Amino acid sequence: STVLTLQGVHKTYRLGAHVVPALQGVDLSVAPGEMLALTGPSGSGKSTILNLAGLIDRPDAGRVTLRGRQGAVQADTLDETAATLLRRDAIGFVFQSFNLVPVMTVEENVDYPLFLAGLAAAERRERVAQMLDAVGLREHAHHRPDALSGGQRQRVAIARALVKRPALVIADEPTANLDSHTADQVLDLMREQGHAHQAAFLIATHDERLLARCDRRIRLLDGRILEGEAA
Ligand code: ADP
Ligand code: ADP
Repeated sequence: STVLTLQGVHKTYRLGAHVVPALQGVDLSVAPGEMLALTGPSGSGKSTILNLAGLIDRPDAGRVTLRGRQGAVQADTLDETAATLLRRDAIGFVFQSFNLVPVMTVEENVDYPLFLAGLAAAERRERVAQMLDAVGLREHAHHRPDALSGGQRQRVAIARALVKRPALVIADEPTANLDSHTADQVLDLMREQGHAHQAAFLIATHDERLLARCDRRIRLLDGRILEGEAA
């Protein structure tokens, strides 16, 4: 079973007369509970894959299939509204620069996806409390992000990404702004929480420590997979 599948995916950007082939036939899949790393030099296509997997962009050719709560969906043909609903249902995001909402407390940041999903207040409270316990931030629930360290902020971001129990977590250089000790803690947390919820992780990274701890890695060059496993 797979959470995410890309089949024969092509993507070309056009800047005026300039044509940039970003992905030239990419096949990959991620299984439940698996951490798959995407690596490769700048410009090799990592962000483009994350954007396609995250339903933020569409391929020119090929298929993107994502498993939501209602089963597998061919996501590349969805309109904006349907893509947004599927994204909220099935995907959590973790970013390099954390992207927390600065005017919200830790608790409010983690609650926000559940609020958007329309869950009842009592269930939201319970899930947020559970998640803050899981990431060790209960005592910071009422703090704003600017009162936290980088590692604590990234733990909030992981809590926010996982609180909906998404099938897929997309992480863009999640350890780039963390020192190596803090990065290790964040990785442990991702592994532990990923396993607990059988979430699949798709992670773009240059971080060797992170790469070493992923289940599998795919190396990209010029929009093609160099090594690693296909389909
Ligand atoms: P990476 O994340 O590995 O650095 P990207 O996916 O960002 O690689 O980029 C792949 C290629 O697509 C690069 O040549 C990049 O310049 C180009 N590209 C990415 N996004 C755009 C865009 N919005 N418009 C034009 N070209 C883009
Ligand atoms: P499953 O049967 O795969 O566990 P459910 O639909 O029963 O999936 O949902 C599991 C939990 O997730 C329930 O507590 C439900 O309220 C909650 N849930 C369902 N849909 C969403 C959503 N879009 N965002 C966040 N939570 C959701």
